[in-house]
Amino acid sequence: MIIYKRIADIQKRLMDAGAQGLSTGFVPTMGALHSGHISLIAKAKKDTDIVVCSIFVNPMQFNDPEDFEKYPVTIDADIYLLEKAGCTILFLPAVEEIYPEGLKKNVQFKVGFIETILDGKYRPGHFQGVCQVVHRLLEIITPRKIYLGQKDFQQCMVIKKMAAIYFPLLEIIICPTVREISGLAMSSRNKRLTATQKQQASEIFKTLLFIKKHIRPGFLNNLLQTALQNLQAKGFRVDYIAIANAHNLQLLDTWDGKEKTVALIAAFLDEVRLIDNMMISE
Ligand code: AMP
Repeated sequence: MIIYKRIADIQKRLMDAGAQGLSTGFVPTMGALHSGHISLIAKAKKDTDIVVCSIFVNPMQFNDPEDFEKYPVTIDADIYLLEKAGCTILFLPAVEEIYPEGLKKNVQFKVGFIETILDGKYRPGHFQGVCQVVHRLLEIITPRKIYLGQKDFQQCMVIKKMAAIYFPLLEIIICPTVREISGLAMSSRNKRLTATQKQQASEIFKTLLFIKKHIRPGFLNNLLQTALQNLQAKGFRVDYIAIANAHNLQLLDTWDGKEKTVALIAAFLDEVRLIDNMMISE
């Protein structure tokens, strides 16, 4: 694996690869890698000739400065995991390389309704920050395919909307959520949890399973209320528990028994904010 920190250097390498007719698969990350990230690398490796992983903790997408400061950084371990997974190129830019004009919020990406709900509502500006960095990285790397995790369901939808406008030829591959044996969705933020908290955090997955098992056509309020009380009783501070149309993320308070739905949760355990989701009816 070759590590590039400068845009000019990675672009030269990718242009050479393009000239040889090689296809590029791209996996953007913020580092502190785990098996979830590695599953995306593995999928990209199957599909494309050159796999580029980026590690960049994007200051523009953190609405909470403390979350940014405490975001885990494990670069040596990350490099080891990427080498082992057969990643071709690691792009490891500094903030100034990505934002040479400083941290400006001068571009508005028109992703519409999708950024006004759920994480968009609880983390103002977050998805604009995501769009900004993914747009910039896609311009630099110009991959044929990008690999994203279903773990960040709403983020996948936002990136799809942004890409449809600016990168219509890009293929977007959504990969399934990789979980701990307990069911806890793997996440870099889990590194901030103690062993006991990690066990406790699997209640989020259990709550999603509970919703999947108990959903019935009709009003959803009682089910969501019970799920909320369960999580609160287990010590979580819940931002949201919601059931939404899986195609457009319209929030549902009734279900017709046919619509394809997804349940989504965001909740704090101590100061650590965790998110997860599950397809409920497919
Ligand atoms: P992050 O480093 O958290 O920004 O994540 C980088 C990419 O990895 C995103 O597309 C995430 O959705 C994906 N990802 C994170 N956790 C998981 C997981 N447990 N399973 C599958 N993909 C994941």
